[in-house]
Amino acid sequence: MVKFYNTMSRKLEEFIPGGVKKDSIDEYPPVSIYSCGPTVYGLAHIGNFRTFLFNDILRRFLKFRGFTVNHSMNITDVDDKTIKGAAAEGISLKEYTTRFTDIFFEDLKKLNIEDFEHYPRATESIDSMNDIINRLNSKDLVYRDGNSLYFSISKYDKYGKLSRIDPDAIKSGTRYDTDEYHKDDIRDFALWKEVEPDEQGWDIDMGHGRPGWHIECSAMIRKIYNSTIDIHTGGVDLVFPHHENEIAQSEAAYDEPFVRYWLHAEHLLVDNSKMSKSKGNFFTLNDLLEKGYPARSVRYLLMTAHYRKQFNFTLENLENAEQPLSRIDNIVELCLRSKKTGPVRPAVKDRISSLLDEFTTSLNHDLNISGAIGHLFEAVTDFNKIYNEDSFSKEEAESVIEVFKKIDTVLGFIFFKEKKSSQLSDEEIETYISRRNSAKSEKKWDEADSIRDLLLDKGIVLEDSKDGTRWKMV
Ligand code: AMP
Ligand code: ZN
Repeated sequence: MVKFYNTMSRKLEEFIPGGVKKDSIDEYPPVSIYSCGPTVYGLAHIGNFRTFLFNDILRRFLKFRGFTVNHSMNITDVDDKTIKGAAAEGISLKEYTTRFTDIFFEDLKKLNIEDFEHYPRATESIDSMNDIINRLNSKDLVYRDGNSLYFSISKYDKYGKLSRIDPDAIKSGTRYDTDEYHKDDIRDFALWKEVEPDEQGWDIDMGHGRPGWHIECSAMIRKIYNSTIDIHTGGVDLVFPHHENEIAQSEAAYDEPFVRYWLHAEHLLVDNSKMSKSKGNFFTLNDLLEKGYPARSVRYLLMTAHYRKQFNFTLENLENAEQPLSRIDNIVELCLRSKKTGPVRPAVKDRISSLLDEFTTSLNHDLNISGAIGHLFEAVTDFNKIYNEDSFSKEEAESVIEVFKKIDTVLGFIFFKEKKSSQLSDEEIETYISRRNSAKSEKKWDEADSIRDLLLDKGIVLEDSKDGTRWKMV
């Protein structure tokens, strides 16, 4: 049974997509997931990527368990920060946000984060914002000040259930124009904001302006899913006010529950304080790649800690990540080199099945990734012991590779393909193969082996047969 810690109830709950329990996983409807994505006003830092990697593990694990997923991550391409950034450079909002959106997608690829089903843009969901605002207005929850529209918290008695704020602390009738503010200062928030004459704006029924940050996510969710969604995720800093405000707008507008499970990821820290752009204590992914750290180590390190625990980032930890990864590479390489035929010993078979059980059981429990990775390394130790007793047969090696591949559909760091510009083209691979063949025919075995190792290093495996040499990517 899959269980998640729901921020709404502050409890571990059985995960039931669609809200109705079924006899087997394949009877469930696709799991609808919405993850708050980046605000594209600069480069995302690896703290952001810790949260995006958590989203990746979540969707990969649900698929591993047999669910189908329908997952969205938005791109916040209009808010206080993006507008300010574009104005400072004297370029259009679109030009400014496209630049950072493109880099963001490249970084996701480099970290082997899967493609999600939808990447909605706030600026493409204005029609849904219009619908929400009209509905709220018809319920007398909207008021105007100048050309801005505000949500009246004091008229909505269910406000505050996610962050469990004290309703008495609500400062009735006082407003906030900025997108972000603190819990001890709860005020009415802007749904729609006045724009300066030279600023980009949009027209909705209640006037010209631009969206407040919170309504963007409510609108994109409505536009894509049209009713209650299963999972909403984000970093813990979004619980208040962002997610609280999303709930208020959506539930008041549509009179149905907004989200079934709220999952929030803890922060990545540096010297024990939150990594953030405003503090300047951040690394981008490219900062680390330029220092020579592989993207694979970054992926591994950022996902080793449980998503609800804070994690302190250091370059030393990142360097240390290479050691466990090479332990995995070594056993994979032993497997790829195992050629003798023979049966699969019970010890191998049993260890494979216990690894799968332990891995699944850990992740079932609120995505206990550190437990799951721990089980993987225990199994690597055991596979090495078995191998040292007597080397693997080809059949054993294949079954070990098979379980690693299965597990890697969740982890994504075992058979990680470094997105290097130095990746070999098909022609280059063929050239290496023919050089290796000549070396073999001249009985230069060392040279032949070193070419095979060089290719293996780049994830290319050679298979010799009487018809010649074929290659494949691992
Ligand atoms: P932003 O681009 O600032 O809107 O943030 C994108 C996502 O990254 C949000 O879900 C944030 O909660 C999350 N986030 C921001 N800083 C950190 C951090 N230091 N560690 C983990 N997640 C973060
Ligand atoms: Zn959001």
